[in-house]
Amino acid sequence: MMENSFYEKDRTNNIQELEDTIKNLRDLKFTLDQAAIVSITDAKGAIIYMNDLFCEISQYKREELMGKNHRLLNSGYHPKEYFKEMWKQISSGLTWEGEVRNLKKDGSIYWVQATIVPFMDEKGKPYKYISIRKEITKQKQLEEEIFHLAYHDPLTNLPNRRMFMNQLRSEIIERNNSKSNLSILFIDLDNFKFINDKWGHDAGDLVIKEAANRIKEALRQTDMVARLGGDEFIVMLKDVQEDDDIIHYVKQILAKFQKPISTYGQEYSLTCSLGIATYPENGDSAEQLITNADNALYHVKGRGKNDFAFYNNKMKVQSLERSLLENALRSAIKNNQFYLEYQPKQNIATKELFGMEALVRWNHPELGIIPPGKFIPLSEETGLIVPMGEWILRESCRQTKSWQKQGFPELIISVNVSVRQLEDSNFIDLVMEILKETELDPKYLELEVTESIFADVKNAASILQELRSMGIKISVDDFGTGYSSLSYIKHLPIDILKVDGSFIQDIHSNDESKAIVKAIITLANAIGLKVVAEGIELEEHVDELKNGGCLLGQGFYFSKPMKSEAFEDYLKINIA
Ligand code: C2E
Ligand code: CA
Ligand code: CA
Repeated sequence: MMENSFYEKDRTNNIQELEDTIKNLRDLKFTLDQAAIVSITDAKGAIIYMNDLFCEISQYKREELMGKNHRLLNSGYHPKEYFKEMWKQISSGLTWEGEVRNLKKDGSIYWVQATIVPFMDEKGKPYKYISIRKEITKQKQLEEEIFHLAYHDPLTNLPNRRMFMNQLRSEIIERNNSKSNLSILFIDLDNFKFINDKWGHDAGDLVIKEAANRIKEALRQTDMVARLGGDEFIVMLKDVQEDDDIIHYVKQILAKFQKPISTYGQEYSLTCSLGIATYPENGDSAEQLITNADNALYHVKGRGKNDFAFYNNKMKVQSLERSLLENALRSAIKNNQFYLEYQPKQNIATKELFGMEALVRWNHPELGIIPPGKFIPLSEETGLIVPMGEWILRESCRQTKSWQKQGFPELIISVNVSVRQLEDSNFIDLVMEILKETELDPKYLELEVTESIFADVKNAASILQELRSMGIKISVDDFGTGYSSLSYIKHLPIDILKVDGSFIQDIHSNDESKAIVKAIITLANAIGLKVVAEGIELEEHVDELKNGGCLLGQGFYFSKPMKSEAFEDYLKINIA
């Protein structure tokens, strides 16, 4: 009896256990059905079971799916090898996991993350597969958005540099040095910075967008246009056989820019410059091609913009020279290879001296004396002008004070200052420090800036105002060649206009130059600015200027720039 009841108990336990197990399995299935798309197929892949979610998401009725293969849902997105690999794995008994893009009955797509588990018979052959899939369409869309963000420029929606480089690299791999039918156009908008700074970033953005549209309009659907940043664009032209084909598209781009761009009721006339490099002649890597297209562009900018140039080997020499020059410039600062020359500024009528302009020279140990036109632009581009300019300012102030201490007349020293220096947040402090250190009274210091600072430097006016409140004079150099209109100059914190030498050179023979100089003098008198004429070379220049009422000037007619010793001699003679 004892034993019997023992077995009785055991049996009830077993039944209970079985019931628990079944309940658990049912609950498990319920939970799974809530969360996942479940299907079972036979060894050949024909669907023999699916849950409701499968039908719901795929939009197919159960009877439409039963007995069918999953190929019914194929969106054609994945390459054949993708599923081949999957079948290889599951038929050998291994679980497969992967993402699949499927098609709903209505043709729209959905993404699933799938896990397929094979079930094997005693012979080690699969007899069914159970797949569990989770819909990940939202996540995939998010991924695509992120991909888009990572590979596109948000302003123009064009591909960005990263995308362009990837594409270019794969085009290069495909071609593998075969005869080129691939060209790179490096495009830069001319004078864009001016629009951006004068009319604001919103206007700048609209102009960039419009420029992007125009470039695209000029090309074919198959040509890739990307924005590198700022006002730089890059184009990949495929299937262009001859230079003439390339020129055809380049000219179409230039032509698209003929029409002024109008936004906010403003009209901007905008041109662009292009540099061209072709594969494999001008480079066999993506980086090299872009660098050389940029070199060609640089060449166009140098000779006057709104044009294009093909890269050639001469430019390679130039860019090599550039980097050699840059290195030499760096060591020149360290090795004190710079010195200053001083050009007298005087009253044209009385010849009385009132100041001098400091002009920098570079005494290169092998190349000899290099004029500033050869190295100032590069030092501005590289930022080397900042330490160099500091030295120039300090040396100018020191020398001027030293002449004053020696009893020479108290003259005003004019120092040229580049935009890049004024952009430096330290500039005001630096000037103050140098004046204190050299003990030069600020009223003897004049800073010459070019008109471009009003386009380039934010708060140019407030920086200049601050300098003026210290007692320093500000003059606008090369006046008449830049952007500022005469009426615009009225509102700027300046003291002097230096009429550009190019107007003085032919003032005696060209009525237009004469009229321009006349207008500048009239305006300056009306608003209380002084006018200094530069580049005076001839007696006729002096006569014209005197007639026009310009009394201050400098130029070879009076004296060339001189080293400090020679300038001292000049001072001595002048006093006498
Ligand atoms: P700039 O400021 O317009 O300087 C006047 C230039 O005209 C000087 O050339 C001067 O030597 C030259 N010049 C003077 N009188 C005559 C003349 O009668 N006829 C002709 N044809 N030329 C005359 P330089 O010294 O070669 O300087 C060229 C430019 O380099 C300067 O033009 C200025 O923009 C820049 N530069 C020179 N020194 C400095 C400097 O210390 N700092 C900065 N940032 N730029 C400088
Ligand atoms: Ca100057
Ligand atoms: Ca000048």
